[in-house]
Amino acid sequence: MAERIELTFLGTGSAIPTSRRNHPAMLLKYKGENILVDCGEGTQRQFRKAGINPCKITKILISHWHGDHVFGLPGILNTLRLNGYNRKLEIYGPEGSKEWVRKYLDLVGRRGTDLDLKVVEVSSGVIINDEDFFVECEEMDHDCPAVGYSFVVKEKMRLDKDKLVKLKIPNSPLLAELAKGKVVEIGGKKVDGKKLLYKEEARKVSFVMDTRMNENAVNLAKGADLLVCEATFSKEESSELLGERAHLSSVEAAGIAKKAGVKSLALVHLSQRYEGIPKIILGEAREVFEDVIVPEDLESVEL
Ligand SMILES: [Zn+2]
Ligand SMILES: [Zn+2]
Repeated sequence: MAERIELTFLGTGSAIPTSRRNHPAMLLKYKGENILVDCGEGTQRQFRKAGINPCKITKILISHWHGDHVFGLPGILNTLRLNGYNRKLEIYGPEGSKEWVRKYLDLVGRRGTDLDLKVVEVSSGVIINDEDFFVECEEMDHDCPAVGYSFVVKEKMRLDKDKLVKLKIPNSPLLAELAKGKVVEIGGKKVDGKKLLYKEEARKVSFVMDTRMNENAVNLAKGADLLVCEATFSKEESSELLGERAHLSSVEAAGIAKKAGVKSLALVHLSQRYEGIPKIILGEAREVFEDVIVPEDLESVEL
């Protein structure tokens, strides 16, 4: 059984929070990794409401340094420090991130220096390459340095447990050899590992936060199982306003999903004006791309 990717939408609002939607933040959980994508003000309380301990965070991916995406960072860093967070915390973000983190640590005070932080400035390409997964990013077109991210679980050959049971192959260190596709002798019989393997497909979740419409967003999300995309405004907004505010409309976000051939789309970063009427955004997007949701705060999805 494949390890699940669980994504919790901690905040689905945008620049101004509402009673229903907090500032942007999402937590992606996979095996021992808990990757926080953006950290708007109040994110640590959203963690509490979701029943998740913020000390579990292993990495933070920052899309850009506009306040609505990062004002929760000093608070969460302070809480980690108070709770004796004792691992290395990796923070990834666009150009300028090192200076921003330094400023934010100043807000936490000198004690912020007890945290072991690794800050990496990124622009495009693979930025994390683990045995089981990788993370890549692409530059977005906002009015400050901004990036989008993709989290990809690598394709893997796995042993078919049903076949192991059928052939009465016991649990032993030899399974590791079979998993490599080797021929192994078990109970006097030769067993070919290749015949017991099946392919677990790669899985991909992409995050396109604040941006104007751009081709990098399409490339980044290509073939994703889930694209989480900002859709700040309705299609009724003028292109001047979208360009000036450097954001996407519902139909632009759905257009990225369609062009990228993703399986499903989650729209976030809704303007406060759609507080009570997210169906406007959802309905418009659905005309372009069918498999779309507008998640509420604290909702989660698994894949
Ligand atoms: Zn924003
Ligand atoms: Zn922004």
